[in-house]
Amino acid sequence: MDKDWAQMNKEMQALLAKETTFKDAISKLMELRGSLFAQITQIVNVFPEEAFWQMPFAGADGYHSKTLAYSIWHIFRIEDIVAHEMIAEDQQVLFAQGFDKTVHSPIITTGNELSGNEIAEFSKKLDVKELYHYAQAVMESTHQILEQLQYTDLKRRFGDEMIAKLQRTGCISEDENANWLITYWCGKDVRGLIKMPFSRHWIMHIEAMRRIMNKLCKTARKGVDPVAYCGLSCNHCFLGEWCGSCRTSYNTCSNAIFSPDGICPNVKCCKEKGINGCYECDGLESCEKGFYVPSNDGANAAKALSLYIRNHGKKEFLKVHDRLHQKYDFSKTQEILGQDYHEGLRILEEN
Ligand code: SF4
Ligand code: SF4
Repeated sequence: MDKDWAQMNKEMQALLAKETTFKDAISKLMELRGSLFAQITQIVNVFPEEAFWQMPFAGADGYHSKTLAYSIWHIFRIEDIVAHEMIAEDQQVLFAQGFDKTVHSPIITTGNELSGNEIAEFSKKLDVKELYHYAQAVMESTHQILEQLQYTDLKRRFGDEMIAKLQRTGCISEDENANWLITYWCGKDVRGLIKMPFSRHWIMHIEAMRRIMNKLCKTARKGVDPVAYCGLSCNHCFLGEWCGSCRTSYNTCSNAIFSPDGICPNVKCCKEKGINGCYECDGLESCEKGFYVPSNDGANAAKALSLYIRNHGKKEFLKVHDRLHQKYDFSKTQEILGQDYHEGLRILEEN
């Protein structure tokens, strides 16, 4: 489990045990959920449509055998049902805000009853942007419910009436892979629901989404030029596991993610100029775009790499990168090449 998420979850559970720390527990839970939701936002903002229905671990045993779209649907359907049918006893967000129409889902259930190719086919039908808006609306609505909870509510339990009510909703399939959920949820008190559908369940599925995402990135990078537009080497990048390269549609580089249009300025500029990379640009030395903004402490190291490619070609560039990694222990090239591109180039040429 991701160390930060595991730690936050552990702290939240400990705080939830006492009345005096109950409000802190809710704040910690919100913090954890905020961090987890940021991962979903990143995936939705960056990945291409086809990524959401692919099953790179089809047939595997575990949550990573699903799709990205299914994972989002499943997490938030469960939360919506639990938060609104059981705890708040009002209308689910899916129906109250019309997402049952806009997400284009052929089902209103949690999806537990689906398997194998059914999951991929289901995922293809979803409008991912609307699905994301649904997830966001469920999260916000749950936060409102959590904010109104009192410590004494944590012990609230659910009986046969709730079991019957949940069955009547039609939101949990009668399939044996799904209908166990009703007795499972109703066997817990509110505290137990906070510890599972509202937290741990998120962690397990979002970690599985990370695995899917990494596998998709790895597959996307196969056979693709490993030299990035700005001069970085994908083969040596410390984020290589998480990124599918800016030469594919699986680019998760922060320079792309944090650009308003989701496109890295260096990639955009090179494409506009019709060049293969910044190493082919006459304005390289004085450029301050994208990765080369002066505030980026890796800007001059990347320029040195680009200048090396310009002078010696990509093949030699990848070799010198290998040699640097054999000789030194570093994750970012600026740790070796420094903050002056002339000096960085000299170091590269001496190796
Ligand atoms: S900064 Fe831009 S060009 Fe460089 S690796 Fe990231 S996305 Fe690619
Ligand atoms: S102007 Fe800057 S970002 Fe654009 S191609 Fe030249 S070096 Fe790259």
